[in-house]
Amino acid sequence: MHTVQDFNFKNQKALIRVDFNVPLNDNFEITDTNRIEAAKPTIVKILEDGGSAILMSHLGRPKGKQDQFSLRHIVSKTSEILGVRVKFVSDCIGAEAEDAAANLEPGEVLLLENLRFYAEEEKGDEAFTKKLSQLGDIYVNDAFGTAHRAHASTTIVAQFFPQKKCFGFLLAKEIESINKVFKDGEKPVTAILGGSKVSTKITIIENILDKVDHLIIGGGMTYTFVKANGGKIGDSICEDDKQELALDIIKKAAEKGVQIHLPVDVLGADAFSNDAHTQVFKVDEIPDGWQGLDAGPQTLSLFEEVILKSRTILWNGPVGVFEMETFAKGTISVGEAIGRATKAGAFSLVGGGDSVAAVKQFGLEPKVSYVSTGGGAMLEMLEGKTLPGVAAILE
Ligand code: AMP
Repeated sequence: MHTVQDFNFKNQKALIRVDFNVPLNDNFEITDTNRIEAAKPTIVKILEDGGSAILMSHLGRPKGKQDQFSLRHIVSKTSEILGVRVKFVSDCIGAEAEDAAANLEPGEVLLLENLRFYAEEEKGDEAFTKKLSQLGDIYVNDAFGTAHRAHASTTIVAQFFPQKKCFGFLLAKEIESINKVFKDGEKPVTAILGGSKVSTKITIIENILDKVDHLIIGGGMTYTFVKANGGKIGDSICEDDKQELALDIIKKAAEKGVQIHLPVDVLGADAFSNDAHTQVFKVDEIPDGWQGLDAGPQTLSLFEEVILKSRTILWNGPVGVFEMETFAKGTISVGEAIGRATKAGAFSLVGGGDSVAAVKQFGLEPKVSYVSTGGGAMLEMLEGKTLPGVAAILE
């Protein structure tokens, strides 16, 4: 795998696809600078080598050129984070961009205007891509959040740099993390899948069954499995048309020697509300008028036991409605158990969905090995797909 580490950027202009699609408030101030900070190590390495950095990104979903989506809003904050004055050019292709790129000195950083001001970016248009490619000597992709898109700057541009293309540190880390789970993960490997629906996770489950020893299923998905097995789920969320699928998953898991762990008890509520009355029920004996909104105490000790004996852990999706405090305990407890396993030497990856939000909200981020930065991109990796942006560098 080629990363920026494999190149010396001295006197080279690196054309870097970053993900600076940051949230802005009404005053166009950045409310979360994580994505810029995440790209910093790659940029610093290039500058320290004696190279220069041409940064390209999208921001939001503009329809043509709209000033509210201009990357000029982020220039001063980016300069502050990188510790270098960032130059800005109000176009990403054309004479102005070419001049600015040509005049860039070693140690300097240039930020191009929003790529998506051109519809050609998302279309992966050849002529547009060629113009982008002419700005730099080496292409670096460090934008994991868009690596699942075959856009001009994320994928197509790589073909103009057959020998001079590589991953930035961030993208490389994402790929390494998923490989640590799926390819060279120390056994036992455990996946914890939660979230609301089976239907949105089915491709992930099918892919994962070939790679894990234990599969913990939690959250709203639980009830489709329980009902398929003949249990009483009261008013809990359920996809009736996915019951066959649930039984098929259980069968396939048995054939492949994967142990499935489903909740045995739940925290039930008499309404989908933080202020609802709550009661613990056996998972298959939930009365009508009640719905399971979090994992119960016995379930949590069972899950903890499995997590603590795992050497590799993947977590995708909360095990309860963690947005409501009353039903957040299960998700926190799973996160804490993963934290303890990690402290004891396991590798843990949290990625691709609301578990990332949960981990951040509950301050669990420092306790796990890696929290993925790309929602959709990580989901596609979990589904076993090769991301076009990744393939373009590896080809
Ligand atoms: P997903 O986007 O599929 O990962 O689903 C995440 C959502 O699942 C979160 O918003 C949770 O509130 C929701 N969820 C988790 N457990 C339950 C449950 N038992 N009933 C309803 N929704 C749930």
